[in-house]
Amino acid sequence: MYKKGVMKMESQRLYQQFRRTVEKSAWILILLIFIIEVIVAVLMINEQLLDVNQTPLEYSLSYVVLPTLINMECAAVYHYIEFKTTFSESKKNYFLILVFNTFCLSTSLVHNALPLISLSFILPIFLSAIFGNKRMTDRSFWLSFISYIITSSVGIYYTKQLTTMVYLNYTAGAILVCAGYLIAKNTIIYQKKNHDVLISFNERQKIMIEELKKDSLTQLYNHQTFYNELNEQIQKTRLNHQPLVLAIIDIDDFKRVNDTFGHVKGDKVLLELSNLMKAYKQDNMMLARYGGEEFCILFENTQLHDAYSFMEKMRLDFSHIEFAEMPSTRITFSVGLVELTSNADNAVSLVEKADLAMYQSKKEGKNKITVYQKNSA
Ligand code: GH3
Ligand code: MG
Ligand code: MG
Repeated sequence: MYKKGVMKMESQRLYQQFRRTVEKSAWILILLIFIIEVIVAVLMINEQLLDVNQTPLEYSLSYVVLPTLINMECAAVYHYIEFKTTFSESKKNYFLILVFNTFCLSTSLVHNALPLISLSFILPIFLSAIFGNKRMTDRSFWLSFISYIITSSVGIYYTKQLTTMVYLNYTAGAILVCAGYLIAKNTIIYQKKNHDVLISFNERQKIMIEELKKDSLTQLYNHQTFYNELNEQIQKTRLNHQPLVLAIIDIDDFKRVNDTFGHVKGDKVLLELSNLMKAYKQDNMMLARYGGEEFCILFENTQLHDAYSFMEKMRLDFSHIEFAEMPSTRITFSVGLVELTSNADNAVSLVEKADLAMYQSKKEGKNKITVYQKNSA
């Protein structure tokens, strides 16, 4: 069974994998930004585009070394939190968003001459959507939005020529950050619906698998499931050195019941017997319909004499049932009992022995229980 706890652990493992992949990507991003900053610095210095009161060293420190150090610091802090702390998985998810936001904030502030970089605040919002937590995405959005307002204000403050276009650019950026948030939020809603569909599909599949294990008329285990369970129990019994007893039940003169009252009434008799078996069932028993009018009861960790007494009581109770529309008809069954003793026995040979004992009951006048004896063959 795929329990909720297992699913939670599995999703936490995936989130951890995701955070670690994002961390690796962050290091690659830092390297790329560094390379671009170096190229831009070389071009600026060669083309003599620096401010008059700015030396190449000052420019390199402010626009290459400082942002790279801040970014590396962010990634290093995150690495520490991920691998060296015992924070909960949820807190680590939050830290990833926070560190990524700081990373975007430092890059946008240093390069405030390029308003487009502020759009990077959409990234932490998208990152948060992966964790499928609406509240986290709400918080991530507010963090990104406030950071965007800060970097835009700094950008506007340092812009020499403030034109309407500059304001329009920053407003468009703010709208795009909001649009990113709406997309992220819808992604979560869609993910949740998709998840629910998969869960209900999984549940239905489990129900169908359970149905396939059963006999459609009686809802007892069918022939195939009986053998699977029997094989399993034989192995378990041998390991634990516990007794295992198998009973095969065959309704007496059932053909006559069908011929006299019809197959529908015959079905009712089969149902009545299966209901009686269910009513008698204890935790250490496995019930099955072997086929036709033959049923099995597997007694786990039960002594032969206890299984015998149990079957005797059931046999008597069944023989006293009065069936509706079958006046003065009493129906009985015969039983073959066998205990797993020989190491050479397997599921098939055990059923064969129980069958031999059951046929012995039939030979001796039906409506009785016979225990398999080695020489009864
Ligand atoms: P015995 O006492 O020797 O066991 O005789 P019997 O008549 O019970 O055994 P036999 O094997 O001659 O007949 C079994 C009958 O069970 C024949 C078959 O039509 C009937 N049967 C098998 N499956 C079903 C079922 O699902 N519903 C009904 N109504 N009858 C079934
Ligand atoms: Mg039969
Ligand atoms: Mg029969």
